[in-house]
Amino acid sequence: GTTTITAGMVDSLVKAHAPLCMRHLHTTLTESGHLRHYARLQYNLFLKELGLPIEEALLFWRRSFRNMTDDKFTKEHRYNIRHGYGLEGRRLNYPAKSCARILTQDPPGPQDSHGCPFRHFSPANLSTALSTHYGLSAGEQGEILTAVKAGHYHVGCTRLFELTHRNRGVKKGAGLDGQGESVSHPNRYFERSWRLEH
Ligand code: SF4
Repeated sequence: GTTTITAGMVDSLVKAHAPLCMRHLHTTLTESGHLRHYARLQYNLFLKELGLPIEEALLFWRRSFRNMTDDKFTKEHRYNIRHGYGLEGRRLNYPAKSCARILTQDPPGPQDSHGCPFRHFSPANLSTALSTHYGLSAGEQGEILTAVKAGHYHVGCTRLFELTHRNRGVKKGAGLDGQGESVSHPNRYFERSWRLEH
């Protein structure tokens, strides 16, 4: 049978299985009650591809924008969320953004939270995020930070996957699929992580 993902499940699913880019978007949304344009776009499409149905997505965003009136939500956000699901305008079924697109398109400014933390965070902020979200020690972070410094962002993200799934038997160099597949899409990262537990 299929499991329907509900608005109430997003928090625990993202915390358990999402890559750092989406963890960061989720935390920013949860803590501030807001996300800026490109961040909303990136997160909405990720959640859509996760299988969050449109009605649950609208509920999730409505609850998350906790300081907003229903009127403002309906006027400014309902359309865009539905648009991402291909239900408005030209009704295009937009795919969730791949790492390549996230790394190269619409670079985030200082106020933004979209993008790839491995590429767009300062080394100090990346280190803080790795310890806050995943509890990685300085020693464990070393290899990730070295890869990132050399511009190998996917390697850093893949190594994070390996380190955070050690207790599921994932070894260094195993990648997402046990054969060295490196991270190329946030949704693939999520799916591989989810599958290791189910
Ligand atoms: Fe997200 Fe891809 Fe960056 Fe990993 S490498 S944090 S999945 S954009």
